[in-house]
Amino acid sequence: MLSKQKTTEVIAEMGELFPNAHCELIHENPFELLVAVMLSAQCTDKLVNRVTENLFEKYKKPTDYLEVTLEELMDDIRSIGLYRNKAKNIQATAKIIHEQYNDEVPESMKALVSLPGVGQKTANVVMSVAFDYPAIAVDTHVERVSKRLGICRYKDNVKEVEITLQKKIPQELWSVSHHRMIFFGRYFCTARSPKCPECPFLSFCREGKKQAKARGFDG
Ligand code: SF4
Repeated sequence: MLSKQKTTEVIAEMGELFPNAHCELIHENPFELLVAVMLSAQCTDKLVNRVTENLFEKYKKPTDYLEVTLEELMDDIRSIGLYRNKAKNIQATAKIIHEQYNDEVPESMKALVSLPGVGQKTANVVMSVAFDYPAIAVDTHVERVSKRLGICRYKDNVKEVEITLQKKIPQELWSVSHHRMIFFGRYFCTARSPKCPECPFLSFCREGKKQAKARGFDG
């Protein structure tokens, strides 16, 4: 498994590859970010951005989501996977934010994860991107990259991956590491065709070794 020191070096190297790694969900305030992250479960940021371009024109504040029927909201996000559940959760969350938090997204992990449809990952993204708290949100890219590189164990669940990353990465780098790992997983170490032959981590990457054997390049 990669040591703390080596993990920090890997994160720094990812920063060389992707100096501009950032949240790609387009939003103008914490509430829009929360809605965008809720929509992004099992869906690409690109598709979410296409949908929110019109959605955020029509719905500007939590109460706007409460003034339409559930069917109308479903229709507005229909091209997104799991749109029925997502529409229900967005309306229920908008109601709580309106009634309990004065129309402001709560700046607290505990409050965020208690909202309908908001899990640990979504809450972490909001805390980190909207409120600048140190957080590592573990999405599919972060999980895959951490496991392939041996930062975490293959058998770790998402919570274990998050805990290990928090232990191995200095807290002041949590948020930036999250973005770098997402960019690295999205554009370099992709699920189906990772760019192993040109990867700076190939010499110690366990998945890279497997890929070298299977694809016939020097690992
Ligand atoms: S060597 Fe391949 S699998 Fe390993 S981190 Fe690099 S691109 Fe990903």
